[in-house]
Amino acid sequence: MRAMLQGSPERRASSLLRVKRLWAPWRLEYVQHADEGGECIFCRAAALPEDEPELVVHRGELAFVLLNKFPYASGHLMVAPYRHGSAFDDLEDAEALEVQRLSVAAIEALRAIFAPEGFNVGWNIGRVAGAGIVDHGHLHVVPRWNGDTNFMPVLADIKVIPEHLLETRRKLADAWPKR
Ligand SMILES: [Zn+2]
Repeated sequence: MRAMLQGSPERRASSLLRVKRLWAPWRLEYVQHADEGGECIFCRAAALPEDEPELVVHRGELAFVLLNKFPYASGHLMVAPYRHGSAFDDLEDAEALEVQRLSVAAIEALRAIFAPEGFNVGWNIGRVAGAGIVDHGHLHVVPRWNGDTNFMPVLADIKVIPEHLLETRRKLADAWPKR
């Protein structure tokens, strides 16, 4: 108890906030160049009639869910409104509600398939904060396991979707909660 009371309030707060960060070096190049091609991956994925090419897991009314091709961890999902130019701080009420509900469903599906021990759920706002696509808001749902800071899959060729991502997409789509 005495140890907990030591140090300045700022110092105690900073140690409470210190969480282990996932080391995902393969994301760096992606984050630096993701939106240089001019085409928004969220708009492309939303417009495609097929789910597989862009790993769409679930399509809602105002928002949809897709697997990240440059994941922080297995099963790294993104929830995005269909509206290009949407951002965390300008969502319509109905969009915000659907993004919230889809995130909860994503957690449920991920629990059913991967049994993670925890999740990081959040928005990267601005490139400095890690956003690869800055003009189309999206929420990350990242499953976490004890010791996963050492997790490092090998994504040899990012132009070809690795088979395990297609398999994961199918499993999550099948496990998506029916309501
Ligand atoms: Zn877009």
